[in-house]
Amino acid sequence: MSLNKESQHTGKLILSKNGFDVIECDQCQFKHVLPIPTEQELAQVYQEDYYQTDKPLYLDSFKENKEWWNYYYDSRLQQLTTHLKGTPLEPPYSLIDIGSGPGYFLSRANHLNWKALGIEPSKQAAEYCQTQNLSVVNDFLTRENVSTLGKFDVVNLCKVLEHIPDPQALINLTRQLLNPQGLICIEVPNDFSPFQLAATHDKTTESWWVAPPHHINYFNLSSLETLLQKTGFEVLSKTTSFPIDLFLLMGDHYIGNDELGKQCHQKVKSFELALANAGFGDLANDFHQKLASLNIGREAIIIAKKI
Ligand SMILES: [Zn+2]
Repeated sequence: MSLNKESQHTGKLILSKNGFDVIECDQCQFKHVLPIPTEQELAQVYQEDYYQTDKPLYLDSFKENKEWWNYYYDSRLQQLTTHLKGTPLEPPYSLIDIGSGPGYFLSRANHLNWKALGIEPSKQAAEYCQTQNLSVVNDFLTRENVSTLGKFDVVNLCKVLEHIPDPQALINLTRQLLNPQGLICIEVPNDFSPFQLAATHDKTTESWWVAPPHHINYFNLSSLETLLQKTGFEVLSKTTSFPIDLFLLMGDHYIGNDELGKQCHQKVKSFELALANAGFGDLANDFHQKLASLNIGREAIIIAKKI
């Protein structure tokens, strides 16, 4: 999929870590590491990870936070429905979730009467989905299989683009899966955000979000928007998730402290569920959109329409 010609990727050096440089690439117009790992190198890295992991942690983590995840997915599906109402596409809407993992988003979509298909390279995750009666293809999305999967009203790409050697090529591929005026929804980490830069300003905390080779690309709302515009999409909405890094600035140093990190996540969930349960769900959405306009927030989340 990727040419990986290093000579094409030049730009300002941001930092170096684990033998990789992070550059602000003039050609790609987002930050990424150099050298860009090849797909063969990545396959080896992920295979080694697989053998070091006894059991997927996501199952326990999801069960613990099920109410919050349901709220999070339902609100995403509601936003997509609102945007689809402005197109000629009609319900029941269809979606494909690329990198669908254990299928929680698919499951929630089915629950809300969507027709949902997943594509997931992890055999373990795909098999788990099958036990839950979810439709999942166990594969990467490739030039070879893209035409066999059908056409959809929505393509969902959550926490995928930061891990792959050529994000632009993947978005071009996903366009082929979309009906005319269909939507793409992309979620990636919002990296090098002002809160992260403030938290690392005194140099006693390292740039924890820089994690090659797993994490190759470092987007923010603006560079993700540019990438979508370059690949033939019209951006409809930009939002974010709660800026968890705020806790670091308030003195909760959770980097390398999983227990404290969990407590901070728990507080965010309590806050958001308290608003939702009190009928302030729309206010919470506005709050996140306003934060996104300041480039503050842990994730960059964009919904865009194929043009
Ligand atoms: Zn580049």
